[in-house]
Amino acid sequence: MTTGSDRSTDSYLPQHGNGGYRVLHYDLDLDYRVESNRLTGKATITAQAAQALSRFSLDLGQFRVQDVRVEGHRASFAHRAGKLRVKPDKQLGYGATFKIEIRYAGKPVPISGRWGDIGWDELTDGALVASQPNGAPSWFPCNDRLEKAGFLLTLTAPTPYTVVATGDLVSRRRGAGTTTWVYERNEPTAPYLMSVQVGRYELLDLAAIPVPQRAAIPPRLRRTFRHDFARHADIMRTFTDLFGPYPFRSYAVVVTDDDLDDPIEAQGMAVFGRNHVDGWRSHERLVAHELAHQWFGNSLTVADWRHIWLNEGFATYAEWLWSSYSGGPTVQTLATQWHATLAQSPADVLVANPGVSRMFDPVVYKRGALTLYALHERMGDAAFFAMLRSWVAEHRHGLVTTEQFRGHAARFTAAPLDDLFTTWLDRRPLPPLPAN
Ligand SMILES: [Zn+2]
Repeated sequence: MTTGSDRSTDSYLPQHGNGGYRVLHYDLDLDYRVESNRLTGKATITAQAAQALSRFSLDLGQFRVQDVRVEGHRASFAHRAGKLRVKPDKQLGYGATFKIEIRYAGKPVPISGRWGDIGWDELTDGALVASQPNGAPSWFPCNDRLEKAGFLLTLTAPTPYTVVATGDLVSRRRGAGTTTWVYERNEPTAPYLMSVQVGRYELLDLAAIPVPQRAAIPPRLRRTFRHDFARHADIMRTFTDLFGPYPFRSYAVVVTDDDLDDPIEAQGMAVFGRNHVDGWRSHERLVAHELAHQWFGNSLTVADWRHIWLNEGFATYAEWLWSSYSGGPTVQTLATQWHATLAQSPADVLVANPGVSRMFDPVVYKRGALTLYALHERMGDAAFFAMLRSWVAEHRHGLVTTEQFRGHAARFTAAPLDDLFTTWLDRRPLPPLPAN
């Protein structure tokens, strides 16, 4: 078999992802015109063949593909229904590292589906990218799996706009009416966690320790933002104490000048709507939630979407921990409240495998957090946090599964855990809350 199959290994998103090779690095050179919402790009992808390949495919949304080269040679290609199929002039050998260059252009549109519009989206005056789980092909050709790669992202935009991308800013050059921003993301990153934010933003420093924490906000929100995010450094310190070192070299908070339904995490970044900044810290739990995803979701990424509770249950539990540490309702109070709430609705979701239509169901978030609460109660403080810190350290920048987590937790306690995980994760009825 010399043909890279189109099948992904992900059980929830079988249309995304391509077999036969893996991507090591993406170098994206993009030009974006805000007024016309036009994106012109050149993607240089370094990949490695996992088998002898006479053809392979990538995921790419509704763009016009102008040219595809493999190892510098023109390749024949066909682009339809979200797949770019490429046939290089020569077969690629097993294990060969090869370069794919793709030139493309068009008006980026989000990928529409059961979760609404995902990916590159126009704002009133700018653009945002929020790709979880399948929006990456809305702005660059990729192997849209959870496997990670390095990124270099160059984006040219009209000068009044600020461009914030996931990565460390390496340079910023002014041209005639445009500015070119270069961001480098060396930490292995899943395509869905890559993001670009374009807006008339002011850049602010939030805190410098343990890594620079910066914000890009509409200037008129400066005072309310300063108030609502005043405890960001405390949240960061609490989480580094509890979970171990922050996994990236910087953190960026972006507040769009549009309302957003939910904030969204990207690698080293979180994106909020202006509606999440109200001068009353009403949404501080979401600030904590998005920051916690840097450990749970972004550094440790699920190997398959069915393990989504490893992201959302953990980020929700982190909200509860921050609430407790900051003098708000305690973890026990929140666990009791949410348990009572869940007890009133039908227990129809398997947390360990909720199904594609329920993967972002609030039950996965809250019952996932309650699973960690039950585990915390059974293990005790010292063993629970030692277990969590080593979970984060051992799988840093890797892919994780529920089975791995169960095995990992068992190493930190003599108490049996199988019944706990089985009743909370693998069965539908809601188990009773453990006595405190
Ligand atoms: Zn989340």
